[in-house]
Amino acid sequence: MEWFTVDNLDFITLYFGEPDSSGHKYGPESTQRKNMIKQVDRTVGYLRQRIRESGLESNLNLIITSDHGMETVLKTDEIHLRTVSNFTFKDIDFELLDYGPSGLLVPKEGRLEHVYSVLKNAHPKLHVYKKEEFPKRFHYANHSRITPLVLYSDPASAEYKVQFNKGEHGFDNEAMNMKTIFRAVGPAFKKGLEVEPFESVNVYALLCELLGITPEPHDGSLEVTRPMRLQPTPAGCRDLEQAAPCSPVLAAPKLQAALPAHVARRGRTRLTKTSSPRLGNRTESPKPP
Ligand SMILES: [Zn+2]
Repeated sequence: MEWFTVDNLDFITLYFGEPDSSGHKYGPESTQRKNMIKQVDRTVGYLRQRIRESGLESNLNLIITSDHGMETVLKTDEIHLRTVSNFTFKDIDFELLDYGPSGLLVPKEGRLEHVYSVLKNAHPKLHVYKKEEFPKRFHYANHSRITPLVLYSDPASAEYKVQFNKGEHGFDNEAMNMKTIFRAVGPAFKKGLEVEPFESVNVYALLCELLGITPEPHDGSLEVTRPMRLQPTPAGCRDLEQAAPCSPVLAAPKLQAALPAHVARRGRTRLTKTSSPRLGNRTESPKPP
């Protein structure tokens, strides 16, 4: 809390590495994962308690969200590319297939059409696209680092070669178990309001608005989160020269314990403080930095 009360920072993010880790290791429906969610919930409760005790409740906006859900991986329904007829890794220059439900392939020169045609209908739960045909709603393939062929599997099937996880994410963003949470509390937000689902790409514009900074080009829209805001950000907050912070934000972009905290000061982003309290098997809420 001293980052706000003493150091006068405007924006702090906390990254929690749980319950992601236990979800991968034990599966999303496991007792271990459920216990971890309780632990993270206590930690968020402690964070809110400290915000109250520090007298910050009336001028600090707290956003709790994450970038994905978690799906159980069914080992009985795996997809093995090696067993696909007419497919051979000799046709492939580069592959990234052993991590999560999406895969990247660079076929050797002149082999793209062949590889595409043999994989396209190889398995009912495997989806194979040429980069330029990959569904736009994934916000994924329009980047120079994405390979000419892109694969993804349906939820609960997963994986192409090797996979040890019992839980996984990275499936279709329309699958219910890939949805995540979004909670916001503070002076900028209406109380007790439940809004329609929205895409996480819109959170960036919201954060920029709360901080009074001009966003870089992005795929989201400020309009999407407007209904949840109590009032427009005061005009004074737009003035970067203004000394007093008027709408600080504390965002926990991923509800997963272990907190590399990226601390940014309005208009002049910088990393100032880092700490990584591990939640481990602790039953007490960890002491925040
Ligand atoms: Zn993960």
